[in-house]
Amino acid sequence: MPAAASSTPGKVWLVGAGPGAADLLTLRAARLLAQADIVLHDALVHPDVLALAPQAIHVPVGKRGGRPSTTQRFINKRLVDAAHRHARVVRLKGGDPMLFGRAQEEIDALRDAGIEVEVVPGISAVFGASADALQSLTQRGLSRSVILLTPRFGEGESRHDWARPAAAADTIVLYMAGRSAEPIREGLLAAGLPPGLPAIVVENASLPGERIQAGRLGDLPAMTRALGDGPALLMLGAVYEALAGRRADGEAVAA
Ligand code: SAH
Repeated sequence: MPAAASSTPGKVWLVGAGPGAADLLTLRAARLLAQADIVLHDALVHPDVLALAPQAIHVPVGKRGGRPSTTQRFINKRLVDAAHRHARVVRLKGGDPMLFGRAQEEIDALRDAGIEVEVVPGISAVFGASADALQSLTQRGLSRSVILLTPRFGEGESRHDWARPAAAADTIVLYMAGRSAEPIREGLLAAGLPPGLPAIVVENASLPGERIQAGRLGDLPAMTRALGDGPALLMLGAVYEALAGRRADGEAVAA
């Protein structure tokens, strides 16, 4: 129910929407969606997920790499404004809110405005992708560490050395990387990783248009050239040897 503008502000839940499939939401997320007055959602959130909040106002505040987007500052302001107008505000974010989702800026803006905020975890894309590839991120004798990394850098941040920490991990998962494979390959090779390192590219994890390609670090540009419009993860490490061995030139191993 909308609250009067002058009464105490509502509460905001930052809710993880999971990798795409609606039935990968948590029960808590589904309950909050069913009770929401307004849902402000990312571009990547699937319509089936939004359909769980038919009673709510839906506001897309999407950001997609390389496309016109709503600035983060404006999103923060919209969240604060929504909490002044509505009792139950859901901010629906792809995957898990606390990973590469600028959640801290939203939490800080809400707390600075005196608005109560709570976070509901979600299944991050890496877990949806690993499940569908039937390939564990860790494996006895092969991988005891995983790094979740993005090659993207913001204004004022240095482009330098983004890949260096990757060399210290057994399994490397790159978010927001699907469309810049050439510099990514150069960065990872410069960090000391071998061109023969097994790699998979998972597009649209958990969704009907999912595609999993396997190959090697050296083939990354060829593997990503075939990517469609969906979000994609690049995953590298010895655990992907069996998949890469089956198909060494980036051909799809599953669709
Ligand atoms: N908070 C999100 C990540 C947001 S960054 C999470 O926890 O998953 C957006 C990036 O996530 C995309 O560029 C892509 O790399 C990845 N991603 C999100 N959904 C995906 C999906 N269904 N399949 C593959 N990658 C996905």
